[in-house]
Amino acid sequence: MSPNDTTHADPVRYYCRFTGGRATSPVDGVATLGLSGVEIDLGPGHPSQIWQYDRLRTLEPVRANAIDVLLSSPDAPGASLFVQGGRFAADLASHAPHLTARAARWRNWRWGLLLAALVALAVAASFAAGWSPLRSFATALPDSWRQRLGDSARESMTQGHKQCADASGVAALAKLSERLSKAAPEGVSFNVRVYDWPLMNAFAVPGGQIVLTKGLIDKAENPDEVAGVLAHEMGHGIEMHPETGIIRSVGLAAAVEIMLGGGGLANAGLMLAQLGYSRGAEREADLDALHLLKGAGIAPKGLGNFFMRVTKMETDNSGSNGGALNWLRTHPPAAERAKLVRQQPDYPATPALDAQSWQELQSICKTTIEPPKPDNNG
Ligand SMILES: [Zn+2]
Repeated sequence: MSPNDTTHADPVRYYCRFTGGRATSPVDGVATLGLSGVEIDLGPGHPSQIWQYDRLRTLEPVRANAIDVLLSSPDAPGASLFVQGGRFAADLASHAPHLTARAARWRNWRWGLLLAALVALAVAASFAAGWSPLRSFATALPDSWRQRLGDSARESMTQGHKQCADASGVAALAKLSERLSKAAPEGVSFNVRVYDWPLMNAFAVPGGQIVLTKGLIDKAENPDEVAGVLAHEMGHGIEMHPETGIIRSVGLAAAVEIMLGGGGLANAGLMLAQLGYSRGAEREADLDALHLLKGAGIAPKGLGNFFMRVTKMETDNSGSNGGALNWLRTHPPAAERAKLVRQQPDYPATPALDAQSWQELQSICKTTIEPPKPDNNG
């Protein structure tokens, strides 16, 4: 296991995310394809690992055009390794041809049979497109499963904060959410909640659930800006980014266990905060957001303005609000987004909310409900 015994020249380095087990935080690192196995370098403090090629397992056959791969190995029981990179799947297939075999290798998985059926569905669905296997898997999940995963993630991430429940504010938010949902794909619905939390934040969790904070609404200058952020998060939801992100982070076995009601999501806040979406995913969410805004007859300017303004605010007094900075870091890059918005042709638009509803949304935290007691059974 000496890291020095690799003699091949400059192997390609792939971004990877290693998860040791369900209660541990994932660690980002670099994976390379060595002579005898996948070499995993997680940086200082982590011993380097080699997962032998012939012992590697995947949940579904590796396809050469997959954009990411989720691996497990008896070399590291309980762990999963998510590797991203267009060429990784093809290179891996040449080193570990057994992974491309159609033969199912589910038997070692706890929820084997159930998964096999779902994965078969997912593989069939993604066969034509070079989709991420995880996304097609997430798409095939029953909605009730995604909701459970979403509840678990939301409860964990909003821990200690009360949900805002002022009746007129909730009604105003529902009005905005319905207006934006009109252009969403068939069968997609959203559940938007505001939490009394001064930190500026907005995120989507599985099952079309979206969380906005009071801090974000306070920072918005008009309802179009809230609509822009909300549409962007809806875009993440439409594209199943939270589902695939969580499965990547905790591993598929743990995610399925949660979906079946077998436990909670440990460290989900930390996990999702660290997650960040790829540039490609952000762009997908933006394109969806523009589509939703147009369908709703809301000007797209709010989407660009808000991110730009907050970025400027953060650069002007860096360090004053780490939370917002963190949020921006996970939503790169504001300038590109603003440019995309500017390129949109004009269309007739009205304010996202009338003056009265906007005021009501701004005071949605006048009344709050207590957070649920933590469940000790998990
Ligand atoms: Zn985003």
